[in-house]
Amino acid sequence: MSSVARLFDYIVIGGGSGGLASARRAASYGAKVAVVEGSGRLGGTCVNVGCVPKKVMFNGASIMEIIDDAKHYGITVGSRSFDWGFLKGARDAYIKRLNGIYERNLDKEGVEYVDGMASMLSNTEVKVDSAVLKANHILIASGGHPVIPKIEGAEFGIDSDQFFELETQPKKVAVVGSGYIGIELAGIFHALGSDVTVFTRTSHILRHHDTIIGDTMLSEMKRQGIAFEHNSSVQALKRHDGAEYPLELSWTTAGATQPSSAAYDCVLWAVGRTPNTRPLNLAAVPGVAVGRTGHIVADEFQNTGERGVYSLGDVFGKSELTPVAIAAGRRLADRLFGGERFANSKLDYANIPTVIFGHPTAGTIGLTEEQAKAKHGADAVKVYQTRFTNMFNALTPYKPPTAMKLVVTGAEERVVGLHIIGRGCDEMLQGFGVAIKMGATKRDFDNCVAIHPTSSEELVTLR
Ligand SMILES: Cc1cc2nc3c(=O)[nH]c(=O)nc-3n(C[C@H](O)[C@H](O)[C@H](O)COP(=O)(O)OP(=O)(O)OC[C@H]3O[C@@H](n4cnc5c(N)ncnc54)[C@H](O)[C@@H]3O)c2cc1C
Repeated sequence: MSSVARLFDYIVIGGGSGGLASARRAASYGAKVAVVEGSGRLGGTCVNVGCVPKKVMFNGASIMEIIDDAKHYGITVGSRSFDWGFLKGARDAYIKRLNGIYERNLDKEGVEYVDGMASMLSNTEVKVDSAVLKANHILIASGGHPVIPKIEGAEFGIDSDQFFELETQPKKVAVVGSGYIGIELAGIFHALGSDVTVFTRTSHILRHHDTIIGDTMLSEMKRQGIAFEHNSSVQALKRHDGAEYPLELSWTTAGATQPSSAAYDCVLWAVGRTPNTRPLNLAAVPGVAVGRTGHIVADEFQNTGERGVYSLGDVFGKSELTPVAIAAGRRLADRLFGGERFANSKLDYANIPTVIFGHPTAGTIGLTEEQAKAKHGADAVKVYQTRFTNMFNALTPYKPPTAMKLVVTGAEERVVGLHIIGRGCDEMLQGFGVAIKMGATKRDFDNCVAIHPTSSEELVTLR
């Protein structure tokens, strides 16, 4: 290399949730840190094309639902209209403010922001354009990106990143995929007034979650008027320019003799995400292994097989959530730069609470009923569950269900899984997360006096 290497204590590849958290924590200990970010804006997936703009859209969708409910409380709302372009503009401005705050925070803490794509030269050297950065510790927190199905015409559809670029609201949308991203975006489109069909490969949705969540969400989405094409496999997408619904999606359904097709003005692929490893030139660090799914392999301390090279967050692929990336990033920085008291600092990946911002919302922690039975044996597992109508809907003609399940094991009935779906479940979960992390038993739940009238009180009065 001709250019002289610039020296740091810690180089972080990726200015997203995990990378920024780790860089700032390392700098707080006095380490000289560089964050390399290739997209031109800080914050990563969560801030730019994930949690944050999605929650803004979810909030807008929730307001529309409240307006629909208002009449049952004697409240008359004047004519209802929705301006997608306005919401997008306000949302983009908010995200831009956040990008600026992230940049200023790095500046304040003395972290150098290097704008460009990073590739590895060795386990101590990183190349960014023509510059070479050198450090004894390098973190790869390069995140992931959406997968596009390999079918004819797939380029006419959009992915979740492009969802946030839509300038106008599509009228008729096909959402292909029923993981949490597909379900959340389908719910937003529908609540804001689009006609939505969800394509699923099986007869279920949210298959990685407990059945109480998937089944309840599915029946409620159907009741709301979202269509489902179950057991379907999309085959091709054609564009007919000038038509009102220019995108012709064709698919086959298990058991059907003929393929089917329908026209939409937006087709959204929500078929999974894959790690960002290609531009990293991992060949220069042969100790950094990539697993079957393409994620970087690291141990419980986020060490890869290459000395001084670490990985976490979505590119590592364990619990792909922002707070997980942040927590892992901070603990790694504590361990590397925080001194002896943090020598064994690492993230415990068990019992991580997470929410699906669907309509309704759902929350989950720990093992599903199935997983608990597989792990502890069916006889050792007991399930407490309930299903009821939230008091909010006492006055509405429709009665969306709230459903709750507690999975416990052993004679002491330790809670190993909690799965809830219904109004308010998103904000209900965090406190139960603390209890479960502390090893709460069913008896501990019972010993907590209920808060009345709420939905969450049902979780401490289950029989
Ligand atoms: C639609 C959607 C909704 C989501 N909703 C939620 C939610 O509600 N709650 C939640 O907890 N999580 C949510 N997530 C997941 C969450 O966004 C991710 O888990 C989180 O952002 C991962 O953080 P990370 O630091 O690993 O990667 P990222 O935040 O993706 O950051 C990686 C960064 O690395 C950069 N980069 C990549 N390669 C290079 C390179 N070679 N050189 C330099 N820079 C590079 C990228 O540009 C990116 O900025 C959502 C994700 C999506 C897509």
